[in-house]
Amino acid sequence: MPPAVRVRIAPSPTGHLHLGTARTALYNYLYARRNKGTFVFRLEDTDEIRSQENYTQDIIDGLKWLGLNWDEGPDIGGPYAPYKQTQKIDHYTEVANKLINRGHAYFSYETPEELAAMKEAQKDSDTAHRYDNSHRNLSKEQVEKYVAEGRIPSIRFKIEEPRVISWHDNIKGEIAIEASVLGGDMVIVKSNGVAIYNFAVVVDDIDMKMTHVIRGEDHIMNTAKQILLYEALNHQVPEFAHAPLIFDLDRAKLSKRKHGEAVHINKYRVDGYMPEAMVNYLAAMSWTLPDGKEFFTLQEACEMFDLYKISKSPAVFDVQKLNWYNAHYIRSLPLDLVTERAKPYLTMLETETYTSSELEQIVASVRDGLTMLSEVMAATEFYFLKKLEINDELKEKALSKDTAKKVLETTLKHLGDLPFGDHAGCKAVVDNLGKDLGLKGKDLYWPLRAALSGKVQGPDLGAIISILGPARVKARLEDILCLCA
Ligand code: GLU
Repeated sequence: MPPAVRVRIAPSPTGHLHLGTARTALYNYLYARRNKGTFVFRLEDTDEIRSQENYTQDIIDGLKWLGLNWDEGPDIGGPYAPYKQTQKIDHYTEVANKLINRGHAYFSYETPEELAAMKEAQKDSDTAHRYDNSHRNLSKEQVEKYVAEGRIPSIRFKIEEPRVISWHDNIKGEIAIEASVLGGDMVIVKSNGVAIYNFAVVVDDIDMKMTHVIRGEDHIMNTAKQILLYEALNHQVPEFAHAPLIFDLDRAKLSKRKHGEAVHINKYRVDGYMPEAMVNYLAAMSWTLPDGKEFFTLQEACEMFDLYKISKSPAVFDVQKLNWYNAHYIRSLPLDLVTERAKPYLTMLETETYTSSELEQIVASVRDGLTMLSEVMAATEFYFLKKLEINDELKEKALSKDTAKKVLETTLKHLGDLPFGDHAGCKAVVDNLGKDLGLKGKDLYWPLRAALSGKVQGPDLGAIISILGPARVKARLEDILCLCA
C-alpha cells in the first residue's frame, strides 16, 4: 500500500502571500483532503536578511482567511503554528557533513571576489554562468593555505555530468534536464552556516515524509537539483507536480514589480473580497470540475479535486473574472455571514441606530449591486445619515416637476398606511398612491428616492422605506418638501 499522502506549502516569509503561492497552497490542500492525507505548512525562513515577522503573519492570516487549515505544527496550545526552518539550522549542517563524508559534497573556499571574477570571465560566453568546480579536488596544502588565510568555506554538492535527470511530473508529464545546465557544483550551506533553499527543502521534505511536492513550474530546475540530492541521501524521490504560473491578460508573469499589491492575497482581504470567491477562482484558473460547474465550494473541490487534470497551459489572472465570482458570493452567501463581514466597512457609520436584523436588511438591500464589500459603505451610507445632501443636479432631475411635491406630500399624508418592515408591502402602497395621482415610473419614484436616499438609483424603493422606518421617512420627506418649489 502506498504511504499516506503528505504534502506541504513552504513559502518564504520574504514578502506578502502571493496569489501564486496561495494557489499552490490550495492545490496541496485539495490534494491532501481528496486523498485523506496531511497538509503541512512550513516556513522557509532561512534568508535571515529578507525574512520578516510581518510577512510570516500575513502568510498565516492569508491561509486562514482562505480556509486552508494545516494539520500539523509545533503545539502552541491552540491552532498549530507553522514549522520553521530556522528551528533546525544545526540539523542541515549535520546532513551536509554526512554528504561530505560520503564524497558527495566538499568544502569550497572561494571568496565572493573570486566568484565574481569567475562570473565576469564567463560573461561573453554563450552558455549560462556556471561554477567551474575548481575546489572539488583541492590538495591538502591548498586547503591549509586557505584556512591559514582565515577563509570560511561554504559546502558544495557535486553535480556529476554528463547526466540526464528525468522524472514523470504529475502535471507536466515527462521532464528531462541535462545536469550540465544546472550551473556546476552547488552551494548547499553558505559560509555563514545557513543552508540554502535547494538543500534545506530536501532535508525537510525527507524529515517530514512528504510523498508529493506540488509547486509552481518556476521550480523545475530546482527539482532537477533536488532529485540529485535525494539520490545522494539514499532517499526515495517524492512525486512531483509543477503547476503553470499565473500571467496577466497581456501574458506577463504576475509579479510584484509589474502588478504591485494586486499580486497579494492581502489586498483582496482588505478590499472585502469573499474568501469563497478567491478559493473558487484560484482553483478554477487551471482546473475545472468534471461537470464544468463554475461555482463550487472548497468542500466540493476537496471531494472532486484531480491533480492530473490541472491544465498545463499558463493560468491567466483576470480581476474582472474574480469580481464576477465575488459578486456572486456576496449575493448568495448567507445574509448573516455577509453582514458580519460587511460590518468592518461600516465603522464610520452609526450602525447601532439599527437593530441587527435591520442591519441585515440594509446589507440585503444593496448586496446585489456590490462587487466587493469595501463598496458597502458608499452604498448604504444614506440609511445612516442624519441629513441627506441634495445637490442641484439631483434637484433638477428629481424634484423640479410640480408633481414631485405632490408625491412627497401624499406619501407623508399616508405614512400610517405604510407597513414598515414589509418591503413589498411598502412598495405596493407607493404604487397605489401613484395610481391615485396618475403617476408612475420616474415621476413617482424619483422624488421619493431623492428624498429618502439622496440619489435616484439604488436599492428597491420598498426596501428603503421599510428599513428607514416611520420616523426617518417622515423627517426626510419633511426636509425635502422645503426644497420643492
Ligand atoms: N520557498 C519556496 C517558494 O516559496 C518553496 C518552494 C517549494 O515548494 O519547494 O517558492
